[in-house]
Amino acid sequence: MANKVIPLIDHRQSLQLPIPRVQEPTGLLGDALGRPLRDLRISVTDRCNFRCSYCMPKQIFDKKYEFLPHADLLSFEEITRLARIFVAHGVQKLRLTGGEPLLRRHVERLIEMLAALRTPEGMPLDLTLTTNGSTLARKAQSLKDAGLQRITVSLDAIDDEIFQRMNDVGFPVSEVLAGVEAAQAAGLGPIKVNMVVKRGTNDSQILPMARHFLGSGVVLRFIEYMDVGATNGWAMGEVLPSSELLQRLRSEFDLQPLSASVAGETAERWTYSDGQASGEIGLISSVTQAFCSDCNRARLSTEGKLYTCLFAHRGHDLRALLRAQASDSELAGSIGQIWGLRADRYSQLRSEGSGQTPSGERRVEMHYIGG
Ligand code: SAM
Ligand code: SF4
Ligand code: SF4
Repeated sequence: MANKVIPLIDHRQSLQLPIPRVQEPTGLLGDALGRPLRDLRISVTDRCNFRCSYCMPKQIFDKKYEFLPHADLLSFEEITRLARIFVAHGVQKLRLTGGEPLLRRHVERLIEMLAALRTPEGMPLDLTLTTNGSTLARKAQSLKDAGLQRITVSLDAIDDEIFQRMNDVGFPVSEVLAGVEAAQAAGLGPIKVNMVVKRGTNDSQILPMARHFLGSGVVLRFIEYMDVGATNGWAMGEVLPSSELLQRLRSEFDLQPLSASVAGETAERWTYSDGQASGEIGLISSVTQAFCSDCNRARLSTEGKLYTCLFAHRGHDLRALLRAQASDSELAGSIGQIWGLRADRYSQLRSEGSGQTPSGERRVEMHYIGG
């Protein structure tokens, strides 16, 4: 809604980097709250062909908005070099995101480079990507061939009119569904479909989405609408708490809880069934049930800034180090120090009523560091 949008100021400033100190990674990094580093999310572009109102509202991200010039983006070689160092520090999972990651030209080449990385124990990484699915029908097979293992597709409604309103560029739901099918056929499963739920906008789609994906092998995950960034005019009244969502699902399905599959898992998992078919759903309750205590995720922005929390105001400029010819040991030393000092727990503080943004500081935008 136009009247709820807050004007954007450029938030892409960086934090002072620690003085590079040579450090050989041990894979045993812990932050100030004892949390390991396991998951790296890499934003490969800040551009997108959708204008979801909760992420890139049209009124702000219009023709005049200045996206990053190509020279500012990390190159595939720079991303791979950093990823290798993160892996030596203990990262086991890489997720490509954006903006819309499939808009980055030749992203398959990057996937090939990342797929060749190994953990210190010689294991391949869990390599995945989050996409709006708009070009997936064409690209699923080449992504799989490049070495991508799994994929997450964002889809906020199964009703075409509601979906087109939400992506705000009139993109039809049928093409995203064709992308999901192509990804399944290419073996990029188990496919996850993420639905951000906004009360009054698409909560009418909870049951239709659950019905649509029941028995399909796709894991449907409901995400509470979050107060990320500074442009979406977030209001608590538009959040549909997972507890309420669960009640709505129970009106039609039998639900049984599943245990977490890995430590640091963000979703609460359930099986659901209508007596004939069954499936799996996940609830990501980032607003009503903070999961900061075991948050093991770091985020690398499109231009190479390291963010230790989705709600951070600033990142650490690793690209500056890369382009100043820092050695691998110096890069590892900086990353180690940054993680060692990390004490972020924004969602937890928000739940306790003290997660306010310090005055004058704007939080980083989702399309710039990815979800
Ligand atoms: N463009 C890709 C996509 O939409 O899948 C990848 C980037 S997008 C920023 C990553 C995820 O963040 C999407 O699933 C999107 O729905 C989610 N997201 C964006 N803004 C959000 C918000 N305010 N609250 C909750 N999730 C959000
Ligand atoms: Fe684009 Fe994804 Fe943001 Fe929607 S959520 S505007 S598809 S980056
Ligand atoms: Fe992790 Fe920050 Fe989200 Fe907490 S608020 S779960 S620390 S990203």
